[in-house]
Parts: sequence; structure tokens; C-alpha cells
Amino acid sequence: MHARQGPEFPRWPQYDETERDSLIRALEQGQWWRMGGDEVNSFEREFAAQHGAEHALAVTNGTHALELALQCMGAGPGTEVIVPAFTFISSSQAAQRLGAVAVPVDVRPDTYCIDAAAVAAAITPRTRLIMPVHMAGLMADMDALAKISAEAGVPLLQDAAHAHGARWQGKRVGELGSVAAFSFQNGKLMTAGEGGAVLFPDTEMYETAFLRHSCGRPRDDRRYLHRIAGSNLRMNEFSAAVLRAQLRRLDEQIALRGKRWTLLSRLLGAIDGVVPQGGDVRADRHSHYMAMFRLPGIAEEKRNALVDRLVDAGLPAFAAFRAIYRTEAFWEIGAPGETPDAIAERCPNTDAISRDCVWLHHRVLLAGEREMHATAEIIADAVAAV
Ligand SMILES: *Cc1c(COP(=O)(O)O)cnc(C)c1O
Repeated sequence: MHARQGPEFPRWPQYDETERDSLIRALEQGQWWRMGGDEVNSFEREFAAQHGAEHALAVTNGTHALELALQCMGAGPGTEVIVPAFTFISSSQAAQRLGAVAVPVDVRPDTYCIDAAAVAAAITPRTRLIMPVHMAGLMADMDALAKISAEAGVPLLQDAAHAHGARWQGKRVGELGSVAAFSFQNGKLMTAGEGGAVLFPDTEMYETAFLRHSCGRPRDDRRYLHRIAGSNLRMNEFSAAVLRAQLRRLDEQIALRGKRWTLLSRLLGAIDGVVPQGGDVRADRHSHYMAMFRLPGIAEEKRNALVDRLVDAGLPAFAAFRAIYRTEAFWEIGAPGETPDAIAERCPNTDAISRDCVWLHHRVLLAGEREMHATAEIIADAVAAV
């Protein structure tokens, strides 16, 4: 079947002379790793400043960012990490790779972010940390989570892979008092193809993380002094150079996506059977990674057929994440002593969302108003047809 001529959306990733010049600048430094060049150091300073954090550490990718943060926060054998059941698999996989048990809990039916009451119910003496994911850049309930965290003495680790530039009650991600991990993978809101970063509110943990991300080796070491267990998770100079350029576009793109989502979500909400993702009003700035909506009650095969129709009509549409406990990978290591069905029973929202949710690539939200109308019309036609 040939794709129909659909609406035109901007390409992703976006780049111009700024990225081109940055790459040349990194090249001509002569040193292409962070120990010799200045791009990674500069990027870390700029990224930390933009997010209101004390320290940023750039790493190879978002999964490694989570692994490093988890390790520095003490996740490992004998510990449990509470994760949303509806997320990209890295959230749980990072904990499992360290030997911790990943405990999935349900998400809210409106924001698709971790449900605070479900978190409270899942805390045990072995719980080492709680990992909220700001799904599609719509913030999790950071007030309720901070309260639970303080009461239980269990820290939060924000999986902020979708939340570059987002804000909760006027606070930037780095100002919320917890460690936050980001991804710069190709589709993310700023990208160098691959890459990640961790924000640390705490200097001591940041210094430990620096050692761990560089084989346990101090910055100025010339005698192979490996102080602490680690790995090589260092970002290279080219990636950092591109990310410095990408960071300069972030605010403007967030503003545009926010405006377009206001329109698109209104149009989607007017379609019978469609419910757009809802944001918490206390989050005064969502970053809008993905435009998500649900078709409550639709059968999974019908949802999949709908996605095929949207793709044929020219929309960059995808079926939403599978519940993590419905993947084979989840059960290989670090799974809780429960059956998938038992987890599904206490995660009814995740089970429903993973069957009835559709997402559109965020480049849709970088197009014009006309394209929002065209997108909603295509969706309305497809929903009526399946
Ligand atoms: C993309 C993503 C990650 C992992 O990032 P990579 O850079 O692809 O390793 C982690 N968590 C979530 C929620 C993501 O979407």
C-alpha cells in the first residue's frame, strides 16, 4: 500500500550551522575525549545551569545514566527499586542489571505517570529508591512523591529521559532535590544520536559518580589509581559539541510544542472515543516528548490496526510501550516473586494503557496550526474506520 500524501512535519533531529561549526570546533581541538578537550566540561556546566542543578555528568547514553545513578544511590543485590510499570524498559532494566529487583507499580490513568499511592503501598524494608518517569515530558506528581520519599527515607531518582527543560511548580528538574537521569538518544528532545546525563544535587555523590564513570580513576591520575569500582561511561567530545548546540534550541522548541499540544489535545478530546494525555496543572512547563492519547476500551488488535492506518495516512504514529512485566526481558533477572498476572492485577491502568494508547512523534508538535487540524482529522477518520 502506498502512503497517502499526508501533512508535512519538520524532520527530526534538527540541525544547522551551529551543530556543523560545533563539530568542526571539537575536531580541531585535536583531543577527542573529555580528558583532553573542553566540550564535555562545557556541556555539563551549561546543562546543569539550564536545569538549575549543582552538577551534571555527561555519559554514553540514558540507560547508562540510570545505571550510574542507581549504583551511586546504592541499588544492587538485596535491594528493590520501585519503577512505573508503564515506561520504556531501560527504567527497570538498569536496576536489574545492577542485581536489584525492579518492582513495577501502576501509573495514573490520566498522566500515565507513577501513582503515588501505589508507590507507598509497594515500599518494603528493602526499597532503596523510587524512580518516577515524567512520561512524555508531563511531570509525575513530585509533591506526593517527595512526601512519600521523606516519610519512608527512600530517595527519588527521576528518569527524566523525556523531561529536558520541564518544570514542576516553577522548579526546574534539577531544583527538585533529587538525582535526575536524561537521554540524548536520536528521538529525544535534544540529541547527539546517543548520549545521557545525570544531574546531582549533592557534590559528594557527583564526585563518586565521576570516578565510577571513568573506571574509578581520578581526573588528574597518571599512576593508574583506580579508587572505586566503575566502568567507562564517558561521553566523547563530538557528542558534547552537538549537544551544546541542541541545548540552545530547547526553550523555543518547548514553547512551540506546548502551544501546539494545547490545540491538538483540544481537537483530539473532541473526537468520540479519544482521550488525550492529561498534564498535572502544578507542572507549569511540560516538555512534550511524544503526543499521546488513549482509546479507552479499544481491543489491542484494533489499536494496532489504527496505528497502521495513521502511518499510511502520513502520521509518525506508534503503539505505546508494552507493560514492562509483559516483556520477556523483564523476567530474565531481577524480577519480583510474583506472576505477570498478579502484577497486572495490581496495575490495571498500565494494563489498559499499554493496550489502548497511541503516541505521535514530537516533531508533529513542531509543525503549524494547520497541521494540528489535519492530524486530528486523520485520527478522527481512522477511529471511525476501525
Ligand atoms: C530513552 C529512554 C531511556 C534510555 O535512554 P537511552 O539513551 O536510549 O539509553 C530511559 N528511560 C526512558 C523513559 C526513555 O524513554
